[in-house]
Amino acid sequence: MHEMALCESMIEIIEREARDQHFARVRAVWVEIGALSHVEPEAMRFCFSAVAHGGIAADARFEIVSVSGAAWCMSCSKTVPLAQRSAPCPDCGGYQLQVTAGDELRIKELEVD
Ligand SMILES: [Zn+2]
Repeated sequence: MHEMALCESMIEIIEREARDQHFARVRAVWVEIGALSHVEPEAMRFCFSAVAHGGIAADARFEIVSVSGAAWCMSCSKTVPLAQRSAPCPDCGGYQLQVTAGDELRIKELEVD
């Protein structure tokens, strides 16, 4: 389950922030998860609480911000919605697509004490 490794590095980022910005507790974490990021939001929630246990973010709320997928279609010369990375352009059926949104996995915001 690669979500576990992702959550571990997320906790590392949070702990580094805590040292730099001198906060002692995290109340909530907002995490952007793109539809094309190959990350299971519920698995992230589960892993985060497992990894955060006993640490600075142990009691933090884990808020998921879903980002839908989008791509630039070279044939249509426009941005089109994309549900899966391997999906064709919904307009022309072509595969000349460049993903422009939906592959993110990042901490958007922290609410801290
Ligand atoms: Zn197209």
